[in-house]
Amino acid sequence: MTAKRIDGKAAAAAIRETVASRVHDFAQRIGRAPGLATVLVGEDPASAVYVRSKNRATAEAGMAGFAHNLPDTISEAELLQVVTDLNADERIDGILVQLPLPLQIDAARVIETIEPGKDVDGFHPVNAGRLAIGLPALVACTPLGCLHLLKAELGSLAGLDAVVIGRSNIVGKPMAQLLIAESATVTVAHSKTRDLPGVVRRADIVVAAVGRAEMVRGDWIKPGATVIDVGINRIPTQDGKGRLVGDVAYDEAAEVAAAITPVPGGVGPMTIAMLLRNTLVAAHRRAGLHDPEGL
Ligand code: NAP
Repeated sequence: MTAKRIDGKAAAAAIRETVASRVHDFAQRIGRAPGLATVLVGEDPASAVYVRSKNRATAEAGMAGFAHNLPDTISEAELLQVVTDLNADERIDGILVQLPLPLQIDAARVIETIEPGKDVDGFHPVNAGRLAIGLPALVACTPLGCLHLLKAELGSLAGLDAVVIGRSNIVGKPMAQLLIAESATVTVAHSKTRDLPGVVRRADIVVAAVGRAEMVRGDWIKPGATVIDVGINRIPTQDGKGRLVGDVAYDEAAEVAAAITPVPGGVGPMTIAMLLRNTLVAAHRRAGLHDPEGL
């Protein structure tokens, strides 16, 4: 079998188009566009690239963007004050503080200071807890994007065996919660899991969120499985530029799977699309409106 290549770029473009049209409706009704504030601390090049593309996407969706670029010498107290001010700013529906933060700042404290209703990254304990007990929440963007791709591919996930490799708070754990809510039978694997290839071989759905280049091999995949590769790993190349690969050995896995996301062009574009979606949802909830349809 040669797997279908799941086109995350096309799926993300469709979501962004729907978001843009709902942004227009929201602005007509409420008299202002939904607003997203991004906070970048320091000059880490990868973080700067991510935040720039988030700011660009915000503008393209017709939302109001509020970009805060702060020096890496900022104290924790000063950063907490910035977040508190954003919480109080009525024009702002979503707050995104780009991680990682400099060592002098406790990232958990910063996240806990964000008003949960504006926590469009879905990292606040209130949102993580609400997701876990099945209440409406703002859900972390990357796993939400993975779920969207899975449902587009498979329809109902009820009863399917899903293996999530990785148990981070930003990907693995919320991914597992989303899959449980869809009635999949979920196993969460991590660095202490025994016989990982054997565990993965049972899965109808594999979500790999590890950060180890091409760790998941083709002979770990059950024939006909759907594979979502969250990993982004740069491996060296002769020209010195490096190349991005996922956590799954794509060519091998594509021989066995029914469908698989590429890296790049799979999960990556979905993350920003879901950030815009979450900002739109946050704006609706803050304005006392029903959640926007079709997202
Ligand atoms: P993380 O916080 O480093 O977590 C990695 C997880 O993988 C941990 O739970 C770890 O287990 C597990 N792990 C490590 N080595 C393993 C092994 N040999 N076998 C099984 N499990 C192992 O990473 P993350 O933030 O979740 O990110 C994971 C990957 O996704 C990274 O490549 C990251 O760049 C990428 N990512 C992509 C997007 C996107 O938009 N596409 C967004 C976020 C992250 P322990 O808990 O036991 O240590």
